[in-house]
Amino acid sequence: MLKKDDSMAKPYTTEVQLIELEKLRQHEEVDPAHLKELKEEIRSDKILKFAIVVDKNTNVILDGEHRFNSIKELGCRRIPVVYANYNSPDIQVQSWRNNLHLTKKDIIEAGLSEKKLPPKTSKHVMKIGNRVLHISAIQKRTDVPLEVLRNEIELIDIRNVKPTMHTELREVLPLYAKFLDTGIVDNPIIIDRKTSVILEGHEAFQALDLLSAKKVPAIKVNILEMKMRSLQSCLKPMATEAIIEAGLKGPRLPPKSFKVLFEPLKVSVPLGELLAPEEKDRRIFKVYNSALESLYEGWPTPLVKLNSSSSDKRSVWAKLEGYNPFSNSVKDRIGWSMIMEALERGELKEVIYEATSTNTGIALTSIANTLGVRAKLYMPMVIQKVSDTYLRVLGAEVVRLPVSLTVEAIEQVNSEAKANKSTHLNQFENDANFKVHLKYTARELDQQLQSVGLKPSCIIGGLGTSGHMSAISFYFKNKYRNDVKIVGVQPAPNEVIPGIRRVETGMKWFHWVDFDEVVDVKQVEAIEAAISIARKEGLLIGLSAGAVVHAFNKISKDEGAYVLILPDTGYKYAEQFENYFKNLEEHRRCNAC
Ligand code: PLP
Repeated sequence: MLKKDDSMAKPYTTEVQLIELEKLRQHEEVDPAHLKELKEEIRSDKILKFAIVVDKNTNVILDGEHRFNSIKELGCRRIPVVYANYNSPDIQVQSWRNNLHLTKKDIIEAGLSEKKLPPKTSKHVMKIGNRVLHISAIQKRTDVPLEVLRNEIELIDIRNVKPTMHTELREVLPLYAKFLDTGIVDNPIIIDRKTSVILEGHEAFQALDLLSAKKVPAIKVNILEMKMRSLQSCLKPMATEAIIEAGLKGPRLPPKSFKVLFEPLKVSVPLGELLAPEEKDRRIFKVYNSALESLYEGWPTPLVKLNSSSSDKRSVWAKLEGYNPFSNSVKDRIGWSMIMEALERGELKEVIYEATSTNTGIALTSIANTLGVRAKLYMPMVIQKVSDTYLRVLGAEVVRLPVSLTVEAIEQVNSEAKANKSTHLNQFENDANFKVHLKYTARELDQQLQSVGLKPSCIIGGLGTSGHMSAISFYFKNKYRNDVKIVGVQPAPNEVIPGIRRVETGMKWFHWVDFDEVVDVKQVEAIEAAISIARKEGLLIGLSAGAVVHAFNKISKDEGAYVLILPDTGYKYAEQFENYFKNLEEHRRCNAC
């Protein structure tokens, strides 16, 4: 919270506001000779030395009518103002002429009507402490360049403004708090008209940037007309070239390197006018009413360009299925669809049985938990140990079987599920698997590609149940015919890559659709491809994802739009990565001796 400004408790404000001339009301005519003289003085100074005094409630000028008119005639739009509360008994009106009695009411009436008083009729005095002084005592010295007063306050795209100095966060946060609290941005940013480099208002600029403002209130000036002083070397003049270079090329100057030589001025721009229009849809803000909703309302999963593999002629995109919330894998999609379909058909019993290589198990257990249903999972011995811990946390019962492939456990799972009157969803045969990928995964991928004006030339993905790649093939081959190549990825003979297996081990949907090619990948190739993506793109992907990347490296040409379906992240495969590094070390040691 910001401390409230108590300046209005005084009969005048201490800040100088920059106010449009047309808002102000004159109550006296001006003396033409004095006006001419003053105007010439201001024109040759190129600055306005003092702010004028204005009644806060009526905008009637209390002191400074000649300055007001000079500024107007010099083509300015705004004038620096100190506001006074004319209702305060501390302010009194007097006449320059002894025989004339003037009241505050006379002044305001003259100000608000067309009948102005003659020149030099009134003067105002103010009680400040124990003394009664002419009201000009509260006029702050501002020394504002006419250049600043001439120009409009423009709302400029924040991306076009170029900071020239770094700022201290501690100096920025109070402005952030003030803007947010009052809903008003009162610090204008002074920028050079030609280069858009910031001359004044760096803290306000940073505060607006932190508020995600799209625009900033800026006054454009000619840098050559402005006086800037270095704060680093005893207010010596600051070279404009150094400022422009810092803004356009960088590096930025240290905080408080220089300042423009005039008092800070205040404006009043509603913060709302600077922010992007507010989106009300909670889904855009990723607000969900349940964990389950976060799955299907959270789609699409991201499609990310892999710049390390892309060129002018070739773009390579990764669909990151690791962004699904439960198993952090593509398998959340089928976990949801198989359970929902069983629920609708009235086939969902108290316990779900399933053979899994981890991901489907996590997805099913998580979703079952939200419905108060339990899961019993059958996993091959070869699957990494950490899966048991994750599944234990989720509350699943895990049975490890001496088989090398998940699919080999199906018969046992089926008969045990039947014997225990439980539900066997069976991802290998259940059409809810293929359907969810057809309805969502394939379509959303097409829409994502269309959003960047692309039609895919090749889509590559791993084969486990064949659910996701078969649905993708069916969708894209029917929409784009053979313009799109579909490539499946399987482990090379006798290789283990969790989640994928060889086509000859039996796959339902694979045989319903067209695949142009199936690529064999060894485990070590998958691991090395995953490591190279981690090191080039910063994405820690899983082993079957690594296999997809390896297949891409093997078959890709120099042109086209490639899509790699990456089923999960690397976090479950620490064991395999660790073994790989251990073997690498051993190899190195052997080669050395
Ligand atoms: N990759 C991983 C990590 C998986 O868990 C799976 C499936 O278990 C796949 C790939 C293969 O997906 P699908 O069963 O849709 O062919």
